[in-house]
Amino acid sequence: MPDQARERSVVEAAPKQLFINGKWIDASSGATFDVLDPSTGKLLCAVADASPEDGMAALEAAAAAQAAFAATAPRARADMLMRAFHLLHERMDALALLMTLEMGKPLAESRGEIAYAAEFFRHFAEEAVRVNGGYQVAPAGGARFLVTKQPVGPSLLITPWNFPMAMGTRKIGPAIAAGCTSVIKPAAQTPLSMLALAEILAEAGVPEGVVNVVTTDNAGAVMEPLIRSGVARKLSFTGSTAVGRRLLEQCADKVLRTSMELGGNAAFIVFPDADLDAAVDGAIAAKMRNSGEACTAANRMYVHTDVIDAFGAKLAEKMAALPVGRGVDDGVRVGPLIDAAAQRKVQQLVTDAVERGAKVLTGGQTGNEPGFFYPPTVLTGVPESARMRHEEIFGPVAPLTPFSTEEEVVAAANDTEYGLVNYLYTNDLSRALRVAEALETGMVGINQGVVSNPAAPFGGVKASGLGREGGPTGIEEFLETKYIGIALA
Ligand code: NAP
Repeated sequence: MPDQARERSVVEAAPKQLFINGKWIDASSGATFDVLDPSTGKLLCAVADASPEDGMAALEAAAAAQAAFAATAPRARADMLMRAFHLLHERMDALALLMTLEMGKPLAESRGEIAYAAEFFRHFAEEAVRVNGGYQVAPAGGARFLVTKQPVGPSLLITPWNFPMAMGTRKIGPAIAAGCTSVIKPAAQTPLSMLALAEILAEAGVPEGVVNVVTTDNAGAVMEPLIRSGVARKLSFTGSTAVGRRLLEQCADKVLRTSMELGGNAAFIVFPDADLDAAVDGAIAAKMRNSGEACTAANRMYVHTDVIDAFGAKLAEKMAALPVGRGVDDGVRVGPLIDAAAQRKVQQLVTDAVERGAKVLTGGQTGNEPGFFYPPTVLTGVPESARMRHEEIFGPVAPLTPFSTEEEVVAAANDTEYGLVNYLYTNDLSRALRVAEALETGMVGINQGVVSNPAAPFGGVKASGLGREGGPTGIEEFLETKYIGIALA
């Protein structure tokens, strides 16, 4: 099939309605909103725009399904997740094309995300059957403590546009494994991947009402009544710190359990004893995954004064050589940004840094092509006063700043309200561990530019969030601990 016809057929085949109680339905008002292809700025399709009443219907369906789902055998829930894992792999080509069309990332990265997303299902299928409690003798004797785990209950899952499927499976996987039903609200810019996932989950045998998907471009109006309803017991949110703060306030009303995966401001530190070529490759991985539109993206690169010129030259050469274009085209490594506002923001941050004294080694200026592209950019001598030192760039811009001592760079890395991840490159093991322990983040990459792994506990400290997703404890976010005291006669 010619490329354009295949693009059209994948979009046409994708569900575009709300998924409530196992049925595909239009929004009750009949309203829709548009989804654009960020590589052209053109319309891809229209998707159902839920009203607050539709949102409530989804939550009521989740609440009605909760007790029966909690009572299913853990093995049955594990089997649903494993079937969904296999279906994601079987449909990889079409799903990757759909994701690239709505989000922009190159096809190879979309395939990588779908494999990563599927892995959360496999990981939590394995966890579902290993939820353990305990039995203990009371310290004073005479009584016994029985400790058991139960599902938290109906959960609200809100996901961002930058990883349209993996940020969903990271929540849906443990929710299903734990026996929780849910209402998922994907980002308005990328609803199609989540709707396609709902179709797969239904095919995998997930019962009606257990997973509901509500799409809307009026997130606040639809989600706030659900959060405040007293019906939902949990909110798991991935998105910006600004929205996360607002949602935490809303959750306080009914004291909901919360998991918050929020923004980041990762430092990428290169010590003078590092393998410089490996550090450059790591910097490209940490910066250019998802065109820099990742919470884990290296946002501040601190490079020792002895090596900053050599590092900057190598990085600029490699960044300048990365092919930019539509993610569907062969060989493209850098797709567009998500929208015109993102493109404008990146340009403003670069202009601000340059006005404050930074030097452009490559890139630095948007072109006139259609779509929301920004060229891979390397800046050096970026001062601490630059806005991009304190705000998420969310674009393909690597800002370098020199440092002299370990103490100085640790203090600079920690001088941010965020605390998601930092990276460091050094061949000195003692230094690596000393610095990793001193950094105020939930995660640290030592001599590696990517930390995401479904089997590891992902999450941040400070304003980067609460709780951990994935890893051995990810399922705990969807479990309550109940202690039953037993008197012995
Ligand atoms: P965002 O604006 O905070 O949106 C995230 C989600 O929240 C979207 O589904 C959005 O819906 C929804 N939302 C917005 N306002 C809301 C409200 N008042 N009530 C309920 N829901 C609301 O973030 P984004 O721009 O999509 O994503 C980028 C951000 O996510 C960055 O800050 C990034 O660092 C962070 N992120 C963090 C992680 C992590 O694991 N720590 C992972 C990925 C991304 P609409 O799309 O309709 O606005």
